[in-house]
Amino acid sequence: MEAKYDFERKYREQILQCSKCGFCQAVCPVYGATLRPSLNARGKMLVLKEVMDGKIELDDELIETLFQCTTCASCFENCPSGVNVPDIIKQVRTDMVHMGSCHPAFTGMHDVLEKHPNIYAEDEPEDFDREHNKKAEYVFFVGCVGLYREDESTEATLELLDRLEVDYTLLDEVCCSGVLEDVGYELNEDLVHKNVDRILATGAKTVITGCPYCARTFNNKPQYKELKQKGVEVLHVSQFLKDFDFGVTTDKVVTYHDPCDLGRHCGIYDEPRETIHKIAPNFVEMRHNRENALCCGAGGGVRGGYPKNSLAMARKRLQEVEEAGAEILLTECNSCVHNLSNAKLRKQRFKVYNTTQFINELMDDAE
Ligand code: SF4
Ligand code: SF4
Repeated sequence: MEAKYDFERKYREQILQCSKCGFCQAVCPVYGATLRPSLNARGKMLVLKEVMDGKIELDDELIETLFQCTTCASCFENCPSGVNVPDIIKQVRTDMVHMGSCHPAFTGMHDVLEKHPNIYAEDEPEDFDREHNKKAEYVFFVGCVGLYREDESTEATLELLDRLEVDYTLLDEVCCSGVLEDVGYELNEDLVHKNVDRILATGAKTVITGCPYCARTFNNKPQYKELKQKGVEVLHVSQFLKDFDFGVTTDKVVTYHDPCDLGRHCGIYDEPRETIHKIAPNFVEMRHNRENALCCGAGGGVRGGYPKNSLAMARKRLQEVEEAGAEILLTECNSCVHNLSNAKLRKQRFKVYNTTQFINELMDDAE
């Protein structure tokens, strides 16, 4: 029988490879927040098998199951059968959107990015009082969350780059639009071209991103291949900073949260730790770290579509910060900082920072 949906054409074998072993249950943040087996990777694969068998339709009834996934890849990391659930889920969402079935929180997202240069539909980005679009060795690409929600952290990151005398420029940047794929749409070509043209016009050979998702999008999406073709390398700021000596340390107990987009999706675990080891001799790991780090609950559209569950996931992660006895929680993603900070309870005395922001604060204190 001919496959009805693209997800079936692309991933039928993988979905059938799911042995229902259930190893994915304990590591799924959505299951952790809801305790609903139908929402873990196994539950999702069972539903998709029923769709492929023609027993149920791929329609609005399945939004609840298929849009509750942060695409954290924790299941994929632990799956003995190699079922790439995040990629399957993204393709299924694309199929659903093509049929007019999308989570209501994202129905207009594509239109928002048609009319506005960012996911928040805002027209006045922070300019950080710095030059934009000039000739420079590096471009610093902030990303939507850093521009519109975590601008304090971004300002601190830029101050750090200034202190290190990095020759960078900011851009009149627009959303990389990678996030559209998470919720069933395709990248916005107009936004892609604007970013590519503006980056190339600076003459920079390296783009440093403050956002792991932007780095992933620039490096992996074919729509951005011109950057690589023109010899432009894209690094996340944690990769760029690992060889610098900051000359400051803290005696506080520090721990680190691996963002899913930087860790499981890009394999970047060591560079952030190399930097932290230089500034924080009292570094402790949380119970779940590196490949097994718990997701903060922000990704895959879950923060927008299921805010209560997203908060519950962040709170679980923060419990591990307490267990580790840390006074400082560092991470490398504005989205994680945003979700974890919002979820932090007043009685939890530790502070949440991007690593760059924390280093800059140490430098301020040392002056
Ligand atoms: S770990 Fe993999 S094979 Fe096992 S139930 Fe989950 S998705 Fe299926
Ligand atoms: S990608 Fe993450 S949230 Fe989605 S099913 Fe797998 S473990 Fe759960």
